[in-house]
Amino acid sequence: MLPVEVMQQAQAEFIDWQGTGRSVMELSHRSAEYIALASEAEQDLRDLLSVPDNYKVLFVQGGGRGQFSSVPMNLKGLSDKAAFLQTGSWSKGAQQEASKFLDVNVLAETQNIDGILTVPKITPDMVDQKSAYFHYCSNETVDGIEVNDIPDCGDIPLVADMSSNILSKPIDVAKFGIIYAGAQKNIGPSGLAVVIVRDDLLEFAMPETPTFLHYKTIDKFDSMYNTPPTYSWYLAGLVFKWLKQQGGLEAIAEKNAQKAALLYKCIDECDLYTNNVHGDFRSKMNVTFHLKSKELEPLFLQEAEQNGLKALKGHRIVGGMRASIYNAMPIEGVIALTEFMRDFARRNG
Ligand code: PMP
Repeated sequence: MLPVEVMQQAQAEFIDWQGTGRSVMELSHRSAEYIALASEAEQDLRDLLSVPDNYKVLFVQGGGRGQFSSVPMNLKGLSDKAAFLQTGSWSKGAQQEASKFLDVNVLAETQNIDGILTVPKITPDMVDQKSAYFHYCSNETVDGIEVNDIPDCGDIPLVADMSSNILSKPIDVAKFGIIYAGAQKNIGPSGLAVVIVRDDLLEFAMPETPTFLHYKTIDKFDSMYNTPPTYSWYLAGLVFKWLKQQGGLEAIAEKNAQKAALLYKCIDECDLYTNNVHGDFRSKMNVTFHLKSKELEPLFLQEAEQNGLKALKGHRIVGGMRASIYNAMPIEGVIALTEFMRDFARRNG
C-alpha cells in the first residue's frame, strides 16, 4: 500500500505540478524545479533516518536485485571474498549473485530448532576480517523473518538489504557501510532503489563496473548520471513528507509494533493458524502463517478476498499466507483481518 493521502496529492497535482502547468513526469530532470524537488526528497530521507554527513544517499534504478550485483562490483577492490548471513530467500539471492564476482562464505543460516526458526547471532570472531564486506537481509519478505539486532561483523563494512523494512523503525546508519532498499515497500512505487553508502567506500569498484552502476559516478552526478525514474523519486518524496507528518520513524515503529502484535496474537490464539518463527525474529512487516489444514487455504483466500482482504497468498516458495503490513497499512486494516481470521477459525476449526 501507499498512503492514501500521498496518492490523493499526486492525483491533485498530476497534470499541473505546483502551478507549472506540467506534470512532474514532463519536467526535465535537469530543470531547476526537478532538481529542487529531488534534493528536498533526499534531505527528508536524511532527516528521517538521521543519516550522518559522511554518507551519500543515492537514488538508483534496478530495484533491490540491482544492488545484489552493484554491491560486489563496487566493493571488490577491498577483497575477493565476502561473508554472508543466510536467513531466507532474499539473502540467498544476494549471495548467489555476489558469487559471480567474489568468493562467498556463508557464515550462518536460519536454524530450525524443534520446529521453531531462529537466526544465529553473528560475532566478529566468526567473520573473516579480510572479507570485502559482510552482508545480511534485515527483513526476509518471503519468509517473514526480521533481524532486529544489527550483526557485529567487526571492522569490515556491514552491508544490509533493507528493501522490506527500511523506514519502518529508527536505525543507526553509522553502524553500516552500505544500506540498500528497493523502493516498492515503504518508500514508494517500484522503479527506484535507495543506496546509503559511507563515503570512504566509493573508491573500491572493480574497473569493469558499468558506469551507471558505479557509486562514485552516481554520487558525482547527484544520482542523475543517467535519467533517474523521476516520477518514482517524486512519489518517494511525498511518502517521506507523509512519514514526517506521522511523527517520524519512532512514531511509525510504535504503530507497526501494535499492528504486528495484534496479528501474531490472533495467529497464536487460534488453533487453526501456525507461525513457526521465534518471537525475536517475527517480522513486523510480513506476517506469514499456515492453516493447519492445507485444504482450507483456497477457501480462506477466497473468503478473504470477498471481504476486501487482498493479496494474502504466501510466496510460491513457502506457500501458506502472508499479510504484508507495511507503514501505509492502517491499524484498521489489521483489525479487519484479525476479525475475519477469528470468524473463519470459528466456522472451520
Ligand atoms: N530484497 C528484498 C528483501 C526484497 O523483498 C525484494 C523484493 N521483494 C528484493 C530484494 C528484490 O527487489 P526487486 O524486485 O526490486 O529487484
